[in-house]
Amino acid sequence: MAFNAFKDKKVHMISSVSYTKDREAFTLFTTSYYDIPIMIFLRDDFGVYNGPESLKDKKVGITKDIFYQEELESLGTFEIKPYTSLLELTRDLSLHRIDAVIENLTAINYLIKKHGYTNIILADEFTVANKTVEDLRFGVQPKYPLLKSILQKSLDSFTKDERNKLANKWIGTIREYGTQHIQLSEKETAYIDRNVIKYCIDPIWLPFEGLNEKGEHTGMSSDYYKLFEKILSAKFNLVKTSSWSQSLDYLKQKKCDMLALSMETPQRKKYINFTDSYLEIPLVIANKIDDSFINEMKDLKGKKIGITKGYGFVETLKEKYQYLNIVEINNIDEGLDQVKEGKIFAYIDALAAIGHEFQTKYFGELKIAGQLSEKLEFRIAVRNDDEVLLNVMQKAVNSIPAEMYSEILNKWSSIKYERGIDYSLVWKVIAGAIFIFFLIIYWNRKITKANDLLKQAQKDIEEKNKKLEKLATIDNLTNLYNRRKLEELLKLEINRCERFNCNFSLTMLDIDHFKEVNDTYGHQIGDKVLIEIANILRNSIRKTDFAGRYGGEEFIIVCFEAQKEEIIKIIENIRVDIQNHDFDIVGRKTVSFGISIFKDGDTIESMIKRADSALYEAKETGRNKVVLHLK
Ligand code: GH3
Ligand code: MG
Ligand code: MG
Repeated sequence: MAFNAFKDKKVHMISSVSYTKDREAFTLFTTSYYDIPIMIFLRDDFGVYNGPESLKDKKVGITKDIFYQEELESLGTFEIKPYTSLLELTRDLSLHRIDAVIENLTAINYLIKKHGYTNIILADEFTVANKTVEDLRFGVQPKYPLLKSILQKSLDSFTKDERNKLANKWIGTIREYGTQHIQLSEKETAYIDRNVIKYCIDPIWLPFEGLNEKGEHTGMSSDYYKLFEKILSAKFNLVKTSSWSQSLDYLKQKKCDMLALSMETPQRKKYINFTDSYLEIPLVIANKIDDSFINEMKDLKGKKIGITKGYGFVETLKEKYQYLNIVEINNIDEGLDQVKEGKIFAYIDALAAIGHEFQTKYFGELKIAGQLSEKLEFRIAVRNDDEVLLNVMQKAVNSIPAEMYSEILNKWSSIKYERGIDYSLVWKVIAGAIFIFFLIIYWNRKITKANDLLKQAQKDIEEKNKKLEKLATIDNLTNLYNRRKLEELLKLEINRCERFNCNFSLTMLDIDHFKEVNDTYGHQIGDKVLIEIANILRNSIRKTDFAGRYGGEEFIIVCFEAQKEEIIKIIENIRVDIQNHDFDIVGRKTVSFGISIFKDGDTIESMIKRADSALYEAKETGRNKVVLHLK
């Protein structure tokens, strides 16, 4: 086209023309500024290439009647297949019909880029004897010799290095495609060439995707789409929508062919085909900075947890964690606000989305408290009446270079900065802040764990103390107070009464002829009698009084605030209760009682001594009786 315009004298000059003899009649040529090298192209499954000998017995494609055809034929080491179409030549190499191509770099490079033949690699430069390589020059109308000399002078002023740099920049080398492999069928290639592929996105879901101020596609998916366009040499066209649900509608109404980034759900599968996932984002839990960290989902049992409505994973989570109280919320902002206001305990969303929100809001108020084992898996969603496009996009997804994933993630997980700031400093500050943020999270986590351990330890100690206290105060067999506790209580009571003029009594009791029980029925039955006596005592005394086992088969009862007659009545009742009690196996048993009442100057010893002597008297005077000693 450009050349015809030049030939018809419509333009003064042409910027890239190859020298040929017949063009000399109407062209002033500069010297060449770029020699187009002739290269050997192979497929990536060719194996080891050690120079032209490696082509022995292979099929080598060339352009028919090219100037080096004769030279190649004279070598006679490989089979030559001449082509009249460069496109066919390149395609046949990609599709295994020939093994190598010897052609000029620019032409093949262009076709590889256009059709995405990424299994073709560059093996070597082909050097021809008496080489007359193709070249690129400026061509000027013969009427303007001055223009030609200006161009020539500026060309001469370039160093060779500068020329190479320019050539690489504008003409390009094939090597940049070396890692991406894509092989499309003819049908697929034709589809891409014929169609502009229309796609829809979620306009407000950064950093995953969205529209920028100029209404252009931005976010993670936009970077993937730029890559796909390059890999496929295809043209994508964004069909703008105002919401995600409108994008879904557009796909249904065939206003767009695919959704850039979508989750697979049973509902959507009815009218959409999905590629494999090409973006996976962990799900995390955000809650208030003062609330605890979440080590497992059970920690959230019964608490209100927010999730954005319509997310593909809501149903899955509901099913898996039935004990959660899931609340569906309109969008992430509302969700995080509700956490902040305490309306819900936590909010679940993608790490990247929550991180994005935390950059501008909620810093110091909310935190990331834990991570779910589930991940969000994003795929390309293609209308299910378009199989070809699905296959093409699947191939594009397969050919994403591994390092792109982390590159794009890193790019969009990083924090947005404002214009007009020293970026390097901003980045340093942000890096520092992020580091500190994670350090705080780390420490919080550690401290929470330590606190939990501490709480558990305190609980253990309390329990042990309770057990110890019980051991120290309670008699094992009868569950009444033991001698130690009895003495402690008595001491307290005596101290109190020394100051406040009170009255209390101490009764000692001893089972009559208890030895017989042991001798007749054995020690164990004896123990049972002790337990039954203890139960009778416990049930007979008033709430304010207390009883204990003083040792062996001797007990003590302490009664408060009771006059002499009243005490005798209480104890007498107990005596009768025991006398009438039918002891298991043993039958009837009786008990003797000796009472002392507190008087000024009394000690535990003096009170016990008086009660003991009263008890002795009871035994001596026939047993099964109550005796009170006032002196
Ligand atoms: P009495 O008091 O009426 O004079 O006659 P006794 O047979 O009860 O004589 P004594 O009080 O001297 O004997 C106490 C007996 O109680 C001796 C001991 O074998 C028994 N004994 C003491 N402690 C226990 C115990 O914990 N369990 C059992 N089974 N027997 C005990
Ligand atoms: Mg005794
Ligand atoms: Mg006895």
